[in-house]
Amino acid sequence: MPIMFIPFINEEETCYYCYYCKRKYSQTLLFEQKYCKYCLFIYIKYSENNYNIDVCVSTKNTQCDKHEPRTLGFCAENIQEWCSYCSEISFFRQIVTKYKFDIMNYDQKIIINDHSQFFFESLESSLIKKPIAILYLPWWDAYYQCLACNSQLELKSNCQKWCSNCFIIYTGCRYCLTTNIIFGITSQSQCKKCKRLLFTNISISGNDTMIL
Ligand SMILES: [Zn+2]
Ligand SMILES: [Zn+2]
Ligand SMILES: [Zn+2]
Ligand SMILES: [Zn+2]
Repeated sequence: MPIMFIPFINEEETCYYCYYCKRKYSQTLLFEQKYCKYCLFIYIKYSENNYNIDVCVSTKNTQCDKHEPRTLGFCAENIQEWCSYCSEISFFRQIVTKYKFDIMNYDQKIIINDHSQFFFESLESSLIKKPIAILYLPWWDAYYQCLACNSQLELKSNCQKWCSNCFIIYTGCRYCLTTNIIFGITSQSQCKKCKRLLFTNISISGNDTMIL
């Protein structure tokens, strides 16, 4: 089951409401990561396998009697321990909202993902017959600015955004919460974790950029 309760651009002004159910997003206690409590609830209820989510669930009410008592320092890593009476999400480990990916300062900046590895690969573009580079990030990069030029990214779908200045496409896999950053135009790339194809609907005709 795909993870639908988080936006792909965390800071965007139009991103107050959930893309799916149009309810207002909540924010995690740390890093101000937006998420939809309703869609999270649906996910917990119907997902057979929740192990794709790396999370810290905390409590705001130590008196809650729906389970064993939880202290204020409580942190459950299993999303199934979510209690709709007292739980808050402290943070999602796989979502980056505050930092632009910076290859030179990678270690200092993306602290919450320090165990994860990113890598580059080159791909023959299906559209322009030239090799283009792809950067594979093992997290959901929900930052709002282009990593190359700082322009504000444009959201093209719930898992696709792009910089029209540099022609850099960002696509995310909603099953694994990974991000592919494509330095050029191509119709597809692949999630390195689950091998699903991630299609892009941005292409170039002549000198114009066309959004299909
Ligand atoms: Zn929702
Ligand atoms: Zn509770
Ligand atoms: Zn850019
Ligand atoms: Zn995937």
